[in-house]
Amino acid sequence: MEYDLIVVGAGHAGCEAAIAAANMGINTLIITMNLDGIAALSCNPNIGGTGKGHLVREIDALGGYMGLNIDKSFIQSRMLNTSKGPAVHSLRVQADKIKYHEYMKQKLENTKNLRLRQMEAIDIIIENNCVKGIVVRDGRKIYSKAVILATGTYLKGKVYIGQNIFESGPDGRFPSNILSDNLKKHGIVLRRLKTGTPARVDKKSLNIELMEVQEGDKTITPFSFLNDEEDIKREQLNCYLTHTTKKMHDYIRANMDKSALYSGAIEGTGPRYCPSIEDKVKRFPDRDDHQVFLEPESESTDEFYVQGVSTSMPEEVQEEMYKMITGLEDVKIMRPGYAIEYDAIFATDLKSTLESKTVKNLFFAGQINGSSGYEEAAAQGIIAGINAANNILGKDSFTIKRDEGYIGVLIDDLVTKISYEPYRMMTARAEYRLTLRQDNADLRLTKKGYDIGLATKDRLERMTHRRELLEEAIKELENYKLNPNEETNAKIKSISTPIKTGSNLKELLKRPEVRLNELIKIFPINTKLNPELMLLIETEVKYEGYIAKNESRINKMHKLEDRPLPDDIDYSNIKGLKIEAIDKLNRIRPETISQASRISGVSPSDINVLMIYLELERRKHERGEDDK
Ligand SMILES: Cc1cc2nc3c(=O)[nH]c(=O)nc-3n(C[C@H](O)[C@H](O)[C@H](O)COP(=O)(O)OP(=O)(O)OC[C@H]3O[C@@H](n4cnc5c(N)ncnc54)[C@H](O)[C@@H]3O)c2cc1C
Repeated sequence: MEYDLIVVGAGHAGCEAAIAAANMGINTLIITMNLDGIAALSCNPNIGGTGKGHLVREIDALGGYMGLNIDKSFIQSRMLNTSKGPAVHSLRVQADKIKYHEYMKQKLENTKNLRLRQMEAIDIIIENNCVKGIVVRDGRKIYSKAVILATGTYLKGKVYIGQNIFESGPDGRFPSNILSDNLKKHGIVLRRLKTGTPARVDKKSLNIELMEVQEGDKTITPFSFLNDEEDIKREQLNCYLTHTTKKMHDYIRANMDKSALYSGAIEGTGPRYCPSIEDKVKRFPDRDDHQVFLEPESESTDEFYVQGVSTSMPEEVQEEMYKMITGLEDVKIMRPGYAIEYDAIFATDLKSTLESKTVKNLFFAGQINGSSGYEEAAAQGIIAGINAANNILGKDSFTIKRDEGYIGVLIDDLVTKISYEPYRMMTARAEYRLTLRQDNADLRLTKKGYDIGLATKDRLERMTHRRELLEEAIKELENYKLNPNEETNAKIKSISTPIKTGSNLKELLKRPEVRLNELIKIFPINTKLNPELMLLIETEVKYEGYIAKNESRINKMHKLEDRPLPDDIDYSNIKGLKIEAIDKLNRIRPETISQASRISGVSPSDINVLMIYLELERRKHERGEDDK
């Protein structure tokens, strides 16, 4: 059997990778150990949120599928952080897990150039440091020009429910044990990570009346730039807010030694930003309650997800402790909470294309790279898929810089920073977050997606139209002159203070209290705007100064970003570099000066030494004196 590309894993990373490569004309095989686990939302039934919503929008803008899939399968939609600045506005929607899986499976089944199979990869075939295919469970070899490993939390998966410990993938599916051992034989370094999830409980056993109802937003914002609100508007389900209690915390403290997490049974490191309830009780001993959200898993089941109470306590302890949450006094657990430990690589062994630094055409994407989250996995999947396709097509590699997208921040952080816990995206990680907003992802990335043959013409035209409307409206506001006369100020009085000198609508809009929708009610303009575009224009105008400052910082950073570092330097030969920097640089082998500057332990003075060394090498080369 021969394919151009084999994608091992049909989770969030594998699906995006396979769909992207197939849409770029690559003959692709995607395999998974269980077709019923395709795009499984093994943990929280929601997509998006702070930083994660930005990733979904960027995947969509590039021509990826996650945004379209969730627009078809959401059951509640909320825009978070609207009281804060636009840089942190984040769309978060509740997904119907069953529909999300079904629609993604249909997409894989109906994508041209893509073949879907239930199979287990037990090894990869490597010849002369180049991948040639995989070996599957029955020993057969399947050959390809490139392979993407997106095996999630399955590699040597081990589940912990108190002292009940067993080999398993998530949701009771088989783990992937053999591949792990063979990857090690090929010299691929693996480490143990862990994550956890709460119990699923029966809605009929909840005392909803004791909880606060959380409704969806009246206005629904699509994740995909190909959708308008009318395309996806629907009846929404409610979530419910409640709290843990002091009684529950005391009970957990009394049983802490039974938790797999605190009995020392678990070796792997968990995500700091998704703590278990045991962690929270330990970390915040003075708190008598923590927020808990009851979230529906799907329209076609009564299973509810207990957000905020992930645990690895024994089941009998779980049954007691969940009853101590307000509104869960009569709760019936349907699935216990558990922790899962699994093998992952060090992503510092990868290039920013997610290709291995040691095995050509072997790519890694998703949780296996040490990230945590559906959105983070999907973002890596699309980049790995694009670059595997480009390698096969003999085209240049495709990367997104830190100033171009959250995807760029995610991958740069993964491949330059050695992190010992699963990496979760947050807006605070993006130094250029003011320009990397979710509302302008298409303006930033769709042209790049189109140029590589992924984003469709329709998508490009929609983006271009949006950009034209944006520019037209801002020009119209700027050209709409205002004279400081009585008539004008009488109009302005209802929204702001009078103007004293000549001005224009754009300047007026810069005033913090002025909103565009109110301004154009008083001073109508021709450009037709929908609420989403109005918000975008308002942000572009009000933050014009900051955005400009950001751009000059970005240009400075680009000067460093574009200084490549040869991949065969022996940093121990460069005089003046500190020991720690030599160790980290020889270990991580950054691709550019800018990447080197982001490695912890490499100081600005080390970067100066490196720049001087490169300059001297360049001059030596010019004089034809280089050692080689
Ligand atoms: C218990 C649990 C709790 C979690 N908690 C959180 C959380 O709190 N916050 C958060 O952000 N994220 C959490 N997650 C993580 C989230 O589920 C993952 O980040 C996401 O699913 C990773 O996507 P992925 O594509 O990398 O892998 P997955 O979605 O895990 O998919 C992996 C795919 O690889 C396939 N596969 C594996 N090995 C092989 C093989 N040898 N041959 C063929 N196919 C193979 C599997 O069948 C599956 O299709 C949790 C996950 C679990 C399981």
